[in-house]
Amino acid sequence: MDDCLRLTDNVWVIGDMAHAQTTGEQALPMVASVALQQGRYVAKSILSDSGVEPFRYKDKGQMATVGRRLAVVELPGGLRMHGTLAWLAWLTLHVVYLAGGRNRVSVIADWFWNYLAWGSGPRRTIIE
Ligand SMILES: Cc1cc2nc3c(=O)[nH]c(=O)nc-3n(C[C@H](O)[C@H](O)[C@H](O)COP(=O)(O)OP(=O)(O)OC[C@H]3O[C@@H](n4cnc5c(N)ncnc54)[C@H](O)[C@@H]3O)c2cc1C
Repeated sequence: MDDCLRLTDNVWVIGDMAHAQTTGEQALPMVASVALQQGRYVAKSILSDSGVEPFRYKDKGQMATVGRRLAVVELPGGLRMHGTLAWLAWLTLHVVYLAGGRNRVSVIADWFWNYLAWGSGPRRTIIE
């Protein structure tokens, strides 16, 4: 794969399937923001007659949920957040990025139900 994410003349690889590097040897992480930026970049490449610059990933920070009402957030400037505020930021951003109003409503309803039903279902997947 070249630095324009092209495998051959008419084949591109993006998202989790790609092994794209920005600087050094380390590949970009398998996260949604990489896949989204690569998707937009390849769409532009396909539509462009004159070619495009090599792909450059713009780091917008990292977020992960790590428990109930608990998340960690790291912004590009090094600002870090954790706890409930970070968890609310994670929820909001993920809903904003979903495509379509129906998707958003159904995900919010699912999350709300899971939040209320937390701990009430079977938890063990392996039984002796
Ligand atoms: C449990 C979990 C939690 C995660 N949490 C986060 C997070 O908090 N933040 C974050 O940034 N990233 C997170 N990720 C990673 C993120 O989901 C992926 O990096 C991102 O979805 C990659 O996008 P993609 O388009 O490459 O692949 P996908 O989103 O997996 O899309 C691939 C699509 O191709 C379809 N497909 C597969 N084979 C075929 C076929 N033969 N024919 C037609 N269609 C096919 C699949 O059904 C799927 O819809 C998480 C991943 C997992 C598994």
